[in-house]
Amino acid sequence: MSCDYIELANPGVQKLHPYQAGKPVSELERELGITNIVKLASNENPIGMSGLVRKALEKEYVDGCRYPDANGHYLKAALSEKLAVLPSQITLGNGSNDVLEMIAKVYVQSHHEVIFSEHAFCVYPIVAQSLGAKLVEVPAKDYGNDLDAILAAITEKTKMIFIANPNNPTGTWLGAEPLKSFIQKVPQNVIVVVDEAYTEYVTDGSIPNTIEWLSEFDNLVVTRTYSKAYGLAALRLGYAVSSEAICGLMNRLRQPFNVNSFALAAGIAVMEDHAYLQKAIEVNKSGMQQLVSNCESLGLSYIPSAGNFLTVDMGQNAMPIYEKLLRKGVIVRPVANYNMPNHLRISIGLELENQKYIDSINTIL
Ligand SMILES: *Cc1c(COP(=O)(O)O)cnc(C)c1O
Repeated sequence: MSCDYIELANPGVQKLHPYQAGKPVSELERELGITNIVKLASNENPIGMSGLVRKALEKEYVDGCRYPDANGHYLKAALSEKLAVLPSQITLGNGSNDVLEMIAKVYVQSHHEVIFSEHAFCVYPIVAQSLGAKLVEVPAKDYGNDLDAILAAITEKTKMIFIANPNNPTGTWLGAEPLKSFIQKVPQNVIVVVDEAYTEYVTDGSIPNTIEWLSEFDNLVVTRTYSKAYGLAALRLGYAVSSEAICGLMNRLRQPFNVNSFALAAGIAVMEDHAYLQKAIEVNKSGMQQLVSNCESLGLSYIPSAGNFLTVDMGQNAMPIYEKLLRKGVIVRPVANYNMPNHLRISIGLELENQKYIDSINTIL
């Protein structure tokens, strides 16, 4: 007798849809036989890896046959100093996706509810769904988190709330005052995860450094990544900062060597490269201006963004425009899976990359 192996699977997993990543350059090259492709689809840092990281990686080759430091001692020490928290409050991850999944696994069971906003980063529903929890998607306000509506959606069963600040794919952000008064109103048995993947790009104080609030809120978990402004997306490195108690729980279910030694060394090196981060921020700022000006000259509305991407309303189904851009060698990101069928998300690239997108969209529209 044969079995239905789909039916046999964990119910939460049966309902999952795989994560849709940005189209890789190599794939488009194979499909169209063209070169000179520009990828503005995954919010990667366009300036390349820090030179200090390259040197640090070379030093790691010699011990490539050894397991990494399972506790990431030196990276945690560097982060602890930079963030003014204890090393025992830091959980390192294979990208911040890893820590987002860990925190959900620590608390969420199948009879729980997990709340996030419409248009929120898709990893939140994926991790909650995989645990069989009930997904509670709260309608957005102006494409961002409607904090009052989220508070109203909390029930006895609510275990976790995910908030990205700034959010991807919308670029919307929350200031200190509304976010803090929101967390104050959330019952203490509900875990609030604030995902700050783009925080380094926001230098004008318009979003809070929620790590400073950890001493006030035991139910707060803040996640960050090295994939964006720090330019280490390929190496997979991120972290969570929380109370020591929550950190200790995440440490229990963490895979023993979830962060490899190259990522550990790279993380330390890039934190020392202040000029790199500065350049990343400046390139992002001027590239944002370039894309915003293009939207204005084409009369397209866009969602004001605090991230390293701009999400633009094409005023029509965006899929054919995405396809036409591909044929011109420009990869951007359709966001129909985020219930935004008319928008495209364009990651900020180098000036010439942005210009290639602009020239292409100008001829398409
Ligand atoms: C890119 C992104 C991340 C980072 O993912 P990594 O696993 O660290 O590469 C996390 N959250 C949001 C909202 C993002 O856009």
